[in-house]
Amino acid sequence: MRLVLLGPPGAGKGTLAGSLKDSLTIEHISMGDILREEMKNNTALGKQAKMYIDRGELLPDEVVTKIIEQKLKKPISGQCGFLLDGFPRTVQQAKDLDAILRKIKNPLDYVLYLKATLPVIIQRLTGRRVCRNCGAVFHATNRPPKKPGICNECGGPLYQRADDNEETIRTRMDVYTHSTQPIIEYYESQDKLLPLDADKESEYLAVMLNEKFNENG
Ligand code: AMP
Repeated sequence: MRLVLLGPPGAGKGTLAGSLKDSLTIEHISMGDILREEMKNNTALGKQAKMYIDRGELLPDEVVTKIIEQKLKKPISGQCGFLLDGFPRTVQQAKDLDAILRKIKNPLDYVLYLKATLPVIIQRLTGRRVCRNCGAVFHATNRPPKKPGICNECGGPLYQRADDNEETIRTRMDVYTHSTQPIIEYYESQDKLLPLDADKESEYLAVMLNEKFNENG
């Protein structure tokens, strides 16, 4: 199964991806996670990424497309496909992705479009806590860890992303509206779009999608 997760910041892409990657045995490729790892390691790419991420802006298309191309050319053995989370984010990236997938003869199956309302988005983003060690996502009230500040999965420390503050969230929403939303039409015209009500909890969506994908074989 080859999937793209599309939706505004805070729609629950990362949380849903966490459930689907195991049940569908697919590789979860999160552009945000890749960039944050580079930032943690203080690489040249990490330093460049930080400037954009701190402002809530998008990195140049060529930079992120190159990263995805390298990932897709080297699939992890034992995985039955991939789930792209946070890529593509512009129509140009979507076109470049199609070209890469044509080259490796593996077209997308579905684009999961998570639709969420603004109050839900703000509540999710301001309460989001992420494990510094393994990247697992929690929420201060919706999905609290068993021990405050500690990851259930690996015992690592939880932190609040620097770009999850109100001012940067506003910029990220504007960027989403202007740069990312036009992709919806692009995939609609390819008949690949699967709209989902992301105000619902990701556990519910994961069960529904697993049923759908298993039915289709
Ligand atoms: P995310 O973790 O998906 O919310 O991404 C965090 C930040 O990483 C975004 O606000 C952008 O600054 C950057 N980023 C992630 N994916 C992309 C992309 N496909 N194109 C450009 N910038 C990206």
